[in-house]
Amino acid sequence: MRIVDLIRRKRDGHELTREEIQFIVRGYTEAQFPDYQMSAWLMTVLLRGMTGQEIATLTEAMLHSGVTLDWSDLPGKKVDKHSTGGVGDKTSLILAPIVAAGGLLVPMISGRGLGHTGGTLDKLEAIPGFNVNLAPDRMREVLSKCGMVLVGQTEKIVPADKKMYALRDVTGTVESPALICASIMSKKIAEGIDALVLDVKTGSGAFMKKEADAIHLAKLMVETGVRIGKRMVALITDMDQPLGLYVGNALEVIECVEVLKGGGPADLRDLSIELSAWMFYLGDKTASVDEGRKLAQQTITNGSAFEKFCEVTQLQGGNVDALRDPRRLPTARNRREIRSQAAGFVHTIQSEQVGIASLVLGGGREKKEDSIDPAVGIVLHKKVGDAVANNEPICTLHYNSDSRLSEAESLIRSSYAISASRTAAPAKLIRQVIEGSSKPAAQAS
Ligand code: URA
Repeated sequence: MRIVDLIRRKRDGHELTREEIQFIVRGYTEAQFPDYQMSAWLMTVLLRGMTGQEIATLTEAMLHSGVTLDWSDLPGKKVDKHSTGGVGDKTSLILAPIVAAGGLLVPMISGRGLGHTGGTLDKLEAIPGFNVNLAPDRMREVLSKCGMVLVGQTEKIVPADKKMYALRDVTGTVESPALICASIMSKKIAEGIDALVLDVKTGSGAFMKKEADAIHLAKLMVETGVRIGKRMVALITDMDQPLGLYVGNALEVIECVEVLKGGGPADLRDLSIELSAWMFYLGDKTASVDEGRKLAQQTITNGSAFEKFCEVTQLQGGNVDALRDPRRLPTARNRREIRSQAAGFVHTIQSEQVGIASLVLGGGREKKEDSIDPAVGIVLHKKVGDAVANNEPICTLHYNSDSRLSEAESLIRSSYAISASRTAAPAKLIRQVIEGSSKPAAQAS
């Protein structure tokens, strides 16, 4: 077999066989052919697409390029959630304790924030001492003791993705739905899970801005997971405004604690309950999603979800006192209120700009190597549909350095559109549910 022939075959629209796809992934991971040939192949995939079977085969080939985790000796179903990322999206820190408190195992491997979206690992590291880099044995110990563990990706899990993603990033091939699907699904399946709930965001703060694109990617991921034998569902959810009211790492931990204690903003609470309910249902803990909702709510009401978050924090070296008294979390030295320059109603909030405003205050990264300030961020006082008076605060910036404060301020100002009449209601939080039992589509992506 020769890579050049496989580039030609995909270029000419043929379906590649299992052996051919395995040859490409193994060959590239083991440096048997150069970047320029892999780039050409990736571009043929972007232009020609892949069938459902090809995507599943690519996912499995990538999955087996490294180690896969195996928890089969631990009793109980293992479930996880993956979000395609958004602004203020902090549900992992809420639903993992809910689901573990409800009796399932959650071996969650998360990522860091890059660009305008936040990352779970950065939020966890805002809790002083919290260690997200656990050796496999310690990961197993934490998971078996408390039913959940929250860690980062290691070099050994899906090394093919690391190499392929770096190449895609510089060859204009990130946008291929087939490649995105295989990249995400191979990493999630490597966690050793039985079921996966996908939160595919759409709107101004999402990776997929158009709902049709989000639905297409969600269907590919659900179909791929089902083909590999996993129970799957995807929720298409709104990211046309930030989720919740707090954006920034320590601020988001505070909001998670509020929800786990039975408070917090309605959108964040509702989405966390909904995603948890699907995890309970797919993990066979409840006979229906509705029962899952009730169980999720019960773990909040009886305090077990918050205690679970404290337990995992303690096991992973974090300071539990900072969860019990959030004033002990990192706090920014300064505040700047942004006031409305008109009276009316919030029409839209460009979420991506809110995410970038948090980044320029120091709460995110422009490059992978950048360090972040856990204390800074933005508190939103107004969301879409809210009435606002002239000169009323719409947001408060929490900052330590004023070097890019005016940039953050103008980003926030331009992200809010205020109209004279109430023309907009918040978009539906859950736009669509795509269940995994649906028949796999035969069509190429
Ligand atoms: N996230 C991933 O992990 N992979 C992609 O290809 C895109 C987003």
